[in-house]
Amino acid sequence: MKILLTNDDGVFAPGIITLSSFLSSSGHECTVVAPDRERSSVGHAITLHRPLRMWRVPAGPYTADCNVYACDGTPSDCVVLALEEPIPSPAMVVSGINRGPNLGDDLTYSGTVSAAMEGVILGCSSMAVSLNCSEKEPEHYYETAASVAVSLLDFLRDSPQAPGVLLNVNVPNLPLHLVKGVRITRKGVRLYEGKVTRLKDPSGRDYFWVSGRPEDQLVEGSDVWAVANGFVSVTPVHMDMTHFPSIETLTSGGAEKINFK
Ligand code: MN
Repeated sequence: MKILLTNDDGVFAPGIITLSSFLSSSGHECTVVAPDRERSSVGHAITLHRPLRMWRVPAGPYTADCNVYACDGTPSDCVVLALEEPIPSPAMVVSGINRGPNLGDDLTYSGTVSAAMEGVILGCSSMAVSLNCSEKEPEHYYETAASVAVSLLDFLRDSPQAPGVLLNVNVPNLPLHLVKGVRITRKGVRLYEGKVTRLKDPSGRDYFWVSGRPEDQLVEGSDVWAVANGFVSVTPVHMDMTHFPSIETLTSGGAEKINFK
């Protein structure tokens, strides 16, 4: 398969390098177009008010058969530019492997998932892949996530997804033989405790850190539940965020008949 590979951790992050090497050695033809720096949690931003640059980078840590480009835009910018020139009609857009999970309500903050969303919007089959690792863990099993991604691509070649649907894949941070299997899941609920921390700068003025500790609702069948139980979570995600039952309740409740003041 001709694959466009991108991410939000930057073109020289370990996840994308590992994935590209696994894809190449499985016979896929890989073109990397990825941000020139860390762009995690930029969401689906597109750059409209300054010029964008994209340049070829020496393969370096990549295998020699891989075409690698860096771009000074967001992950979604990378997909837009890549589909314009170096790889106009990929069989698949793959975003990742992200350093850290993209579970529950992480979805719309995530540059990784947003790049896959951009792929879907532009008519490509797309997949986002994230490793459920944290900075505190000594080992990051990117090879596990890369094996899972290659196996899923084999599956998708024979069973393509419906247009407009991307797969959000989260892989437990474990050696491959300890992963229990795959669960097809729904988006779960992940809230952040202590999201804002207020501190003082040396002049005594307040400043703020937005971060927080994730608190998951471990409902069976959700993405957070699957990964917490050692399974690969595969969530089909579509771009239509409409809540259809509310169309009925708002309409029958008279929302179309309100009088403007
Ligand atoms: Mn990231």
